[in-house]
Amino acid sequence: MATRTDRVEADFVVVGAGSAGCAVAARLSEDTATRVVLLEAGGEDKNRWIHIPLGFGKTFADPSVNWCYQTEPDPGAADRRVFWPRGKVMGGLSATTISTARARTASATTRRRRATAGAARPPLVICVRRCSGPICESSPKH
Ligand SMILES: Cc1cc2nc3c(=O)[nH]c(=O)nc-3n(C[C@H](O)[C@H](O)[C@H](O)COP(=O)(O)OP(=O)(O)OC[C@H]3O[C@@H](n4cnc5c(N)ncnc54)[C@H](O)[C@@H]3O)c2cc1C
Repeated sequence: MATRTDRVEADFVVVGAGSAGCAVAARLSEDTATRVVLLEAGGEDKNRWIHIPLGFGKTFADPSVNWCYQTEPDPGAADRRVFWPRGKVMGGLSATTISTARARTASATTRRRRATAGAARPPLVICVRRCSGPICESSPKH
């Protein structure tokens, strides 16, 4: 078994590069003086089905990108175990289940009315833009 002896020093260690871990690591990294290590047990998101809308059906039970957990026997389901998918890849479960995210918080009419009144962008839209990067930046709607 290969062993790694590299020494890495960090101010923060974030475990798990799913939605939560990536958001936390990204925010912490905004301060360039802060050293952040993000650890992910899965690999890179190279599986092509991750990048194809509705490819989720192919990654759902693929142990190379999914932990494929089972619940404990559930008395409410005649003691059956229930399949419990969790992403095991950069991006976590979101990488395997969500193809795109769009912030649709208002109809076009409401948005126009808000814009005319000089209202600020709703906070949710700002958050989604920050998380989504190029997906939303390319769209004038967001
Ligand atoms: C079928 C399905 C569809 C969904 N669709 C949507 C949707 O359309 N929109 C939406 O907003 N939400 C959706 N969700 C919910 C959403 O996917 C989850 O709420 C979200 O992905 C959870 O993110 P997380 O960061 O908490 O956990 P995870 O995404 O599970 O990330 C945890 C990460 O930590 C890693 N990890 C675990 N243990 C270790 C360890 N010891 N060391 C290092 N790394 C480790 C894992 O490999 C994983 O990458 C869906 C969920 C499911 C099941």
